[in-house]
Amino acid sequence: MGLQRVQVVVDLPLFGAFTYLSHFPVSPGQRVAVPFGNRQLCGVVVTGIPPEGLPDSQLKQVEQVFDSLPPLSADFLALAEFAAAYYHFPLGQTLFTALPTALREARDITPPDERPYGLTDAGLAAMPAARQRARLALWQALGDGPLTQTQARQLTPQAGKILADWLAEGLVHRVEPDLQPLQLGPSPQLNADQQAALDALSSGPAGFQPWLLHGITGSGKTEVYLQRIARCLAQRQQVLVLVPEINLTPQLIERFIQRFPASSIAVQHSQLAEGERLRNWLDAWQGRADIIIGTRLSVFTPMPRLGMIVVDEEHDGSFKQQDGLRYHARDLAIWRAHRAGIPIVLGSATPSLETVANVEAGRYRQLKLSQRAHGAAKLPQVRLVDTRRAKLVEGLSEPVIKALAARLERQEMSLVFINRRGYAPVLACTDCGWTSGCPRCSTRLVLHLLERKLRCHHCGWEENVPHACPECGAPDIKPLGEGTQRLESALGRLFPTARILRIDRDTTQRKQAWDDIYRKVHAGEVDMLVGTQMLAKGHDFGTLSLVTVLNADGGLYSADYRASERLFAQLTQVAGRAGRADAPGEVLVQTQWQEHPLYQALVAHDFDGFAASLLQERRQAAFPPAVYQALLRADAAELASASAFLTQVRSQVQDMAAGVLISGPAPALMVRLANRERAQLVLESANRQALHRFLDQLPPLLDAQARQYGRGLRWSLDVDPQEM
Ligand code: ADP
Ligand code: ZN
Ligand code: ZN
Repeated sequence: MGLQRVQVVVDLPLFGAFTYLSHFPVSPGQRVAVPFGNRQLCGVVVTGIPPEGLPDSQLKQVEQVFDSLPPLSADFLALAEFAAAYYHFPLGQTLFTALPTALREARDITPPDERPYGLTDAGLAAMPAARQRARLALWQALGDGPLTQTQARQLTPQAGKILADWLAEGLVHRVEPDLQPLQLGPSPQLNADQQAALDALSSGPAGFQPWLLHGITGSGKTEVYLQRIARCLAQRQQVLVLVPEINLTPQLIERFIQRFPASSIAVQHSQLAEGERLRNWLDAWQGRADIIIGTRLSVFTPMPRLGMIVVDEEHDGSFKQQDGLRYHARDLAIWRAHRAGIPIVLGSATPSLETVANVEAGRYRQLKLSQRAHGAAKLPQVRLVDTRRAKLVEGLSEPVIKALAARLERQEMSLVFINRRGYAPVLACTDCGWTSGCPRCSTRLVLHLLERKLRCHHCGWEENVPHACPECGAPDIKPLGEGTQRLESALGRLFPTARILRIDRDTTQRKQAWDDIYRKVHAGEVDMLVGTQMLAKGHDFGTLSLVTVLNADGGLYSADYRASERLFAQLTQVAGRAGRADAPGEVLVQTQWQEHPLYQALVAHDFDGFAASLLQERRQAAFPPAVYQALLRADAAELASASAFLTQVRSQVQDMAAGVLISGPAPALMVRLANRERAQLVLESANRQALHRFLDQLPPLLDAQARQYGRGLRWSLDVDPQEM
């Protein structure tokens, strides 16, 4: 066969594909080895990108085709192409992000043949001699039923060799996987809300349909997924379940394993060992696994029989990747469901405003679970403790101390929640409630103490720190949410006999950490759990009768317009930890801002009302989801050069930006990160197409501009940014 021209993408920050010649027949999705500069790289064959117009004599040749695995599927390539186009990221890097590490390297991968071995009739009759201990043990085990290679290896390390011999001698054969009906574990009787939701999810018309399953904490959303998934499996469909990083707990997987055969479940997350990740990925791709449960990266897992997608806690920030390909797994999942023509269920107690807006617009259908699933369990009572006038002992108010003491006395477990997320100091007056707003945007100015300046991280406005409150003249203006770090040890001093367990990023680093925590909690060895947002998510700590929240205020008047949405979601989650079993729970929130609508909504358990008012605010201020945003970030050793780059870019592209508003440059909320300083332009439009047409033109321009700044300057585009 003659030479064929093929388009290949590689894992480098270069847009477009490269043309090679191939002696071998290749098809789109095939992995190949290509020469690149003086290296050999792994490439993936693609189509749809116009070939470079070079003569054959200037083209290099494909060196090898890795064909032990079939080419990547058209669905997989289409998803990667969409992601690359939508996030304005090179297709090669996008594709390689979506692949397990083992498939990113320039080597062939032979898939393990996981079909079990069974004895043939000849094998049954050929009992090994007693002195061949390993063979005899294996033969006896096979007498009880087929074994996979892995299972056989656990019996004897020589299993691989022995089975290969026996296969050649016709004593064993490979057993084809059976398609018997699934054996399901027992499931509880659904309550009326759950049943109605399950019926709606199951009876909808075939085809693409996004659903919001909006259920209060503990309302049994997971149970609804499980029963809906069982129906998919009965039809031999595969199901993809996306969960936030922090929720992919052994308990969740255990719940799935109790319901479905363990062999039908494959887990995908970034902490998996490379071999296991590859094996699970191949199980999904080759249809051996029916259920894929994983974090954001599993959205790319190829699944030929995909019948439904579930995104649990769809509002969770961890679905958005914050570097490289800055994709949002929920949004890609929606696109994937649309292409596959299947239903997708987004579950949450506090859906994102994007999703709420989609429900309002009639694009998503909503199902509600408004009762707790567990017999007597009720939503906890939420009370606010006004700390403006109250005397605080080490940051703790009297009602909180009393409540903690009472629980300690009754030997009930309490949770003390410290909110530290996304802390950016905003100035506030404790007398009149004034906060440092930006005169040019509806955001708040951030305090930069060293320079004594207030800055807007949206538009770049800057002013001096006032000496007194500009509204009422009171001298007592200070940053919100300060002084939280000491609380932990303070609790120790206040309650010397209490057994306090701290849970945060530091104490959960070790591999066994969560196991230890669960063991202690369930053995009744803990009186008070103290921790950050890690505590707020899907962990089941049994009966918590008291939850106290100590410094949530920082999120109320943040410079980040998403802060109050997040704060409400987080407080709802933490509050939801209380009273999960049969004991009624109590939640105490210390605040200086009792009247704030967020706290009022929290007390009333009124998500809908709060979401409606937030959405209204966003529309008035022209913030997402009312408009579409992208950030152009630049970082350099010094803020000045990052800003200069952006200023230059801005003047260069201003004329192309029809229908797109450009603001900035402004310093990023976290200016300094890893010894680099960051600035950004905000690009926004009420028209998504207009924004993307504009973004399409940027990368070559930015590359050219950045070259003038040398190696020290880096830029990136973040579409639908979650963090400013
Ligand atoms: P969510 O996912 O909404 O937080 P879960 O599905 O985890 O809720 O349910 C909360 C608790 O109630 C779990 O312990 C679960 O086993 C239990 N549960 C869920 N549905 C039922 C039901 N129909 N009957 C009894 N218990 C249930
Ligand atoms: Zn004031
Ligand atoms: Zn501003």
